[in-house]
Amino acid sequence: MLSLIKLPRVFTINQVPKVFHEDSIISGYRHPRSSATDCILSLFQLTNETLNIWTHFLPTWYFLWKLVTVVLMQPVWQDSFTWPLVIFLLSCCIYPLASSCAHTFSSMSARARHICFFFDYGALSFYSLGSAIIYSAYVFPDKWVNSFFHQCYIPIAVCNAIISTNMACYSRLGLPFLQYNHDIVKRFPECQSPKFSKCLRVVAFAYPYLFDNIPLFYRVFLCAGEGCTDNDTNILHYNHIALAFLTGFLFATHLPERLAPGSFDYIGHSHQLFHVCGILGTHFQMKAIEQDMVTRRSWLLEHSIPITFSNSVGAALLCVVVNLIIIILYSLPLLSTLLRRSVAKLKKYLNTCYLL
Ligand SMILES: [Zn+2]
Repeated sequence: MLSLIKLPRVFTINQVPKVFHEDSIISGYRHPRSSATDCILSLFQLTNETLNIWTHFLPTWYFLWKLVTVVLMQPVWQDSFTWPLVIFLLSCCIYPLASSCAHTFSSMSARARHICFFFDYGALSFYSLGSAIIYSAYVFPDKWVNSFFHQCYIPIAVCNAIISTNMACYSRLGLPFLQYNHDIVKRFPECQSPKFSKCLRVVAFAYPYLFDNIPLFYRVFLCAGEGCTDNDTNILHYNHIALAFLTGFLFATHLPERLAPGSFDYIGHSHQLFHVCGILGTHFQMKAIEQDMVTRRSWLLEHSIPITFSNSVGAALLCVVVNLIIIILYSLPLLSTLLRRSVAKLKKYLNTCYLL
C-alpha cells in the first residue's frame, strides 16, 4: 500500500534554512514547507525525525494505558489520595504526545516549528509540576513530612514550571513583540548565539528537575538515621535518577553525532537516545512512586499534609492555564502574520467573486 504512495524526498543540511539545522546532523531533513499530509507520511519514511517521533508516540500509549487502568481500577473520585498519581500520569501522557506532535509537524514552516516546540516546552514543564505534586504526596522522607519546606514545595514548583516554560520559549526567539514581530529571521537569537539558547534551554529544564528532586536526593543520598524512609523502593529511585542524568547529558552534549557528524543522522543520534532515556527514567519514576504510594499509604494519611484540591488538581490547572497563556503570547506574533496573510487571501478571493 505504502509503495503506491509517493513519499516526499529528503534533503541535506545545506538545502534547508538555518532554523531547521540540527547540530552534527547532515542529511535526512524533510522539506521546510511540508504539508500536514507529508508530515504524517514522514512517520513511515526514514528521515532524521522519524525515530524522534516514534520514541515518544509509542510511550504515550503505554502511559495512557496506565492512566486508564488507575482511573478504572481505583476509586479516584472519592479518594483524594490518588489524585496526585492521576495528575502525574496525565503529565506522563501529555509530554511525549506533545513532543511527538512537535517533531511530526515542525517541518511545515519556520513559524510552525517554533509554535510546535513552544507546546513541547509547556508540556515538559507541566510534567515537572506533575512530578512535584506526586513527590509531595508520596515520596518526601518521613523526617521532612509537614516541614516548612514541604508546605512551600508545591507553590514553588508551580512558579518554577511557569518560569521554565517562559525561559524555554524565550530561548528560541527572544521576547514576543519586543524582540521579534513579523520578520522573525532577523531577530532570531538562536542564529546569532546558538550556545546561549541551548544553555538557557538546559537550565530551563534542569533547574525545576533538580528542585523537584531535593526531597528524593536527600532521602536516598544524604539522610542518615531514623525518619529517612529507607525502603525497597530506593533501588527504583536510583534507576530513575541515573537515567535522568543520562538524559540531561545526552541533551546537552549532542553525543554521539558530534564525534562523527553525518554517521547518526537517521539512527542513534543524541535526540533519539535522549527520548528513550527520558521515557525509561519516567517508567522507573512511576514504578518507584507506585510502590511508595502503596507501602506508605497509612503512615502518610496519618502524618502528612492532607491532599486537597488546591495542592493537587488546582495547582495543575493553574500551571496549564498560565502555560497556555505564555505559549499563546509567544506564538501570537508568529500567528498574526499568518492570520494577516489569510485575511488578505480571503479578501482577494471575495473581490474576485464580486467582480465575476
Ligand atoms: Zn524531542
